[in-house]
Amino acid sequence: MNLKDQYDRPLRDLRISVTDRCNFRCPYCMPAEIFGERYQFLPKPQLLTFEEIVRLTRIIVRLGAVKIRLTGGEPLLRQDIEDLVAMLAAIDGVDDLAMTTNAYLLPQKLDALKAAGLKRLTISLDTLDDEIFRRMNGGRSGVDKVLAGIEAAEVAGYTPLKINAVVQRGVNDHTLVDLARFFKERDHILRFIEYMDVGNKNGWKMDEVLPSAEIVERIHAELPLEPVAGNYFGEVARRYRYADGGGEIGLISSVTQPFCGSCTRMRLSPEGRIFTCLFATEGTDLRDPLRAGASDDDIEAIIRATWGARIDRYSEIRSSLTDEVRDRRKKVEMYHIGG
Ligand code: SAM
Ligand code: SF4
Ligand code: SF4
Repeated sequence: MNLKDQYDRPLRDLRISVTDRCNFRCPYCMPAEIFGERYQFLPKPQLLTFEEIVRLTRIIVRLGAVKIRLTGGEPLLRQDIEDLVAMLAAIDGVDDLAMTTNAYLLPQKLDALKAAGLKRLTISLDTLDDEIFRRMNGGRSGVDKVLAGIEAAEVAGYTPLKINAVVQRGVNDHTLVDLARFFKERDHILRFIEYMDVGNKNGWKMDEVLPSAEIVERIHAELPLEPVAGNYFGEVARRYRYADGGGEIGLISSVTQPFCGSCTRMRLSPEGRIFTCLFATEGTDLRDPLRAGASDDDIEAIIRATWGARIDRYSEIRSSLTDEVRDRRKKVEMYHIGG
């Protein structure tokens, strides 16, 4: 208990990436020219089984995690994902069980997910402009598919939804006010995410980042906003509410206003490594010890040592790194650990 890292940050959230596969090819995450037909994704025997995921989660919950989020890749591509949801929902001490999805397969999966005990949903949608959206998912989906997923989620009672929109200057930034208006009318919480230099495959450049302050300015000019005070420790989004009382938005400003000081997240990859930062260069393998017969106490000791040694604060040091140093740093990919 009371597990803290080197900067006194507790372990509160666990993000579980259940697959490295995805049915989209968002250029900022899995560019199609790299993740083509012949790309070798993890073979099934290398993936953690549901039983293994649940066993690790139990241990991580014992160490303080109370919020769990399923992600990927695209989590709905993992076969029988609802069975995993049901198994995780049964763990004592889990306050929140959520999923982030591109929603393409959501309509056919929702009833099963709800019955299994999934509490909250975050759906990613970067723009309402169909042409731009297709460009932003590698031509895999129109906006209509995601809206159908959103509608199904509304009908199933997952309201308000969180909607994630990655903002790329020169790509979708001129469509943000439309997106805000659309979700304001539907009472969902839209969260703008600054385009991040996760991994090494998306060709990230600082000049493609639209700072959150500018996003707020642009929305505020059309739909007046005021800041919401008193965010809880560990909350990554800065919140603003509409001055007319009609809902709120969030800003995830990993690049321009880092929040490493309150980062309480651990990430578990599909093949069983834990990562203590989204921009980590290495993970700590738990699968081999697990499959070699380690006890829960042995695994707990590895996790304790990993979190206890944690000194990650990449977003706070990013601006002090030269492009060259940044490019040389071999980081884990977003599709692998799920954001
Ligand atoms: N496939 C699911 C989805 O897209 O919702 C879940 C996994 S995805 C990696 C999780 C979130 O990360 C999505 O909301 C996505 O937009 C965001 N994301 C991916 N690459 C990003 C990047 N380079 N910068 C900022 N956000 C990114
Ligand atoms: Fe797939 Fe999500 Fe990455 Fe897009 S952001 S490629 S939907 S994992
Ligand atoms: Fe957490 Fe790493 Fe992001 Fe900082 S850069 S907020 S430590 S994940």
